[in-house]
Order: sequence, then C-alpha cells, then structure tokens
Amino acid sequence: MSKTLQAIRGMNDILPDAAPLWQHFEQIVRDWLRAYGYREIRMPMVEQTGLFKRAIGEVTDIVEKEMYTWTDALNNESLTLRPEGTASCVRAVLEHNLLFGNPQRLFYSGPMFRHERPQKGRYRQFHQVGVESLGYAGPDMDAEHILMSARLWKQLGLSGIELQINTLGTSEDRARHRARLIHYLESQQGILDEEAKRRLHTNPLRILDSKNPALQDLIAAAPKLLDDLDEVSLKHFEELQVLLRAAGVSYSINPRLVRGLDYYNFTVFEWVTDQLGSQGTVCAGGRYDGLVEQLGGKPAPACGFAMGVERLLALMEAQGCVPVKEAPDIYLAHFGAQVQTYALTVAEQLRDAGLQVVLHCGGGSFKSQMKKADASGARFAVLIGEDEMNADVVSLKALRTQAEQVSVPLTQVVSLVRN
Ligand code: ATP
Ligand code: MG
Repeated sequence: MSKTLQAIRGMNDILPDAAPLWQHFEQIVRDWLRAYGYREIRMPMVEQTGLFKRAIGEVTDIVEKEMYTWTDALNNESLTLRPEGTASCVRAVLEHNLLFGNPQRLFYSGPMFRHERPQKGRYRQFHQVGVESLGYAGPDMDAEHILMSARLWKQLGLSGIELQINTLGTSEDRARHRARLIHYLESQQGILDEEAKRRLHTNPLRILDSKNPALQDLIAAAPKLLDDLDEVSLKHFEELQVLLRAAGVSYSINPRLVRGLDYYNFTVFEWVTDQLGSQGTVCAGGRYDGLVEQLGGKPAPACGFAMGVERLLALMEAQGCVPVKEAPDIYLAHFGAQVQTYALTVAEQLRDAGLQVVLHCGGGSFKSQMKKADASGARFAVLIGEDEMNADVVSLKALRTQAEQVSVPLTQVVSLVRN
C-alpha cells in the first residue's frame, strides 16, 4: 500500500472548522478597506525572479535564502513564487500606467511563499493583506496607514498590539550613517557572526535586524541613525508624530527598526504583540520612495504595509475574538421512496424564501436522520413523510428548544422559523 500523501511542510490546509474565522476576518477587512477608499488589485502568484531581486534587494533574507525559485523549462526563464506583494503591485501599476496623473490607494491579499523554518507563526505558505499608497509624499499618508491599522485592530476586537516607529531618513543620511556603522562594526569584528561579516560591507544596516542573541549587545550599543538625520528627515518624522499624537495613537520610537535598502526612506513602523511568543510582529510597513524608479518607473513617492493574517488570527483566537458559530436554519429529513422528489422541491422553495436548508441525502432511518439533524446545528428539522406529502403539510420540530412538534402548511414554515 502506498503512503498517505501529505501537504508540503509549512503549507497548511485551512479546514472547515477554521474557515469561519478566516471569513470573519476577511469580511471585517473588506469593510475596513472600503471605509478608507482603498481599491483592490490582484496580481499573479508567479513573477520573474529578477523583479524580487530588484525590489527586495539581493542582500536580504528573502532573496538570499527564502525564495521558491525555478527555471521554467519552456523558455528557460527564472521564475519565483511571490514572497511578498509590494514588488508585484508596483510592477503591475507601472506596467498598466495606473500612476499616470493619479495617485493610487491599493490593497491586495493572498498567499505568499517563503522557504523558512516552519514554527508557530512562521510558515512557508502564509497570507498577507497588503496596503500600498502610490504618489503620496507627505507624512499625512504615513499617518493614514498607521491610523487605519490601529482601527483594524479595534474592529477585529484585538488589544495589546503596540506601535513602534522609526525613520530611515534619506539615502544621504544613511550613507553618512553607514560609514559610521561600518567603522563601529569593524571595531567589533571578533563578535560578528558569519552572516554579519558577509553583510558588513554590502548591507550593514541589516545587521541591526539580526535575530542572533549573541549580537544583541553589540546591536544595542551601535551608532543610531537618528543622530545622522538631516532637517528634511527630522521634519517628516516630527510631522508624523504630531499627526499621531493628535489622533491619540500611542507609539514608541524603536531606533532598531530598519529596512536595509536604499529606496526605503523616512517612516518605518511595526505593530508588535507579546502574546504570540517570538513571532510577535503582526504588521510591518513604511515608506519606499525609491522603489518605483528602481523598477523602471518615473520617480514617485510610495508607502505601504502588510500584515500577517495567520498571526492576527492566532491572536484573535487567543483573545476570544471569534465569530458566533453559524448553523443552517433547517435540516430537512424525509422518509419513503415516494417523498424524495417532493423533499427536493420543498428544500428549493425554502431556499427561495431565503432560508438556509440542509437537505438530507443518502436515505436512512428516522433515528439516524434525526441524529444528523441534531449534529448539523440546525435550529429546526422539517420532517416529510408520505402522510405529510399527501396532506400538503410538513412537520416542524424545534431542535434547540422544548417546543412541541407542529404540523403546518409549507407557507407557514418561513415565518415560524424566522420568529
Ligand atoms: P520576520 O522578521 O518575522 O521574518 P519579515 O520582516 O520577514 O518578518 P515582512 O516581510 O515585513 O516580514 O512581512 C510582513 C508581515 O508578514 C510580518 O510582520 C508577519 O506578520 C508576516 N509574515 C512574514 N513572514 C511570515 C511567515 N513566514 N509566516 C507567517 N507570517 C509571516
Ligand atoms: Mg522574515
């Protein structure tokens, strides 16, 4: 006998018992995005590998070791399963000229793929909802993104998610800072791990993002970008904070929040919880004014954020923010070979009237059908035998209360079930 087939490690099935929480989340997210005027964009799940190399950067965890990449045999082209959405989104916007005179507020959602070590809150196929605003330069848009994410946590019923912000300044600020940082890190060569040594001269800012416990003291004592910022950067950061304070959003400044690439600038932010163990970042975002040009477009400012759906759902479960269980209105049981066709049409008529009806299929005794009716969670059973069919009535039995079973014409079922 062959071995039972299994899903790929780190790629999860979402089973029927779990699906209602996903649907509940998706419903709230849809209404939330509409309330802010964001429009949906749907991109393919596969892109040319070069897109991600250019957009995410060669010297990053994602591009160095996390991408699912293969050579397409038909035209010998290197393709990659998308590890995130921003690159494809900007590619699509440029390809279809959406930015021509029109700033865009966009969102996307769906699975992303990263070859990481699977653990709680970290999967190889996971889901993101991403928001991108293209063509907006000011801190007002950064503030909008932060305010809207804060509102989403509230609408999901979540608490205990904290906002950390930082600024990456301009590329000139970072060049100055980079020189200072390299100087400092070189003086600490003995402590650096292999990865840090490799990144020392290619992407030293990324070293500050390392999760290696042995590097944490060194990271804490490293020079701070905040001390290398010019006036323009400080102004953008200050204006953002004024807007956040005016809106009553509390935050802390985390000077260690970084993105290691030159086209990221000014604002970065993360929403973090301590209730999910070490995978505590549920949402991350910031400004990337250089990316549009990097991908071949006319320069345009841009910013965005993406949230990890699995992590948010885990938090919703932990905090009991789950939807009420849904069940059908009616389980329709029927007895006797003559009744089957009639039962089918009755079920359709009840659905015409707007009720949710599970029609029993597969025959079976009265007892076994009633068992199934009970297990379905339905509030009522409608029972039809030959007697009912011939008298043009049905028997209606409340399954969740002690009410007497009644014999009623079909037309009365709807109002009885509704009340
Ligand atoms: P981390 O530092 O946890 O690896 P990241 O910086 O790689 O996160 P982003 O690329 O900023 O993450 O993605 C945005 C969000 O997507 C993260 O904050 C997280 O909630 C979620 N996320 C990222 N990678 C995974 C994954 N492998 N499994 C589940 N969720 C993920
Ligand atoms: Mg990661």
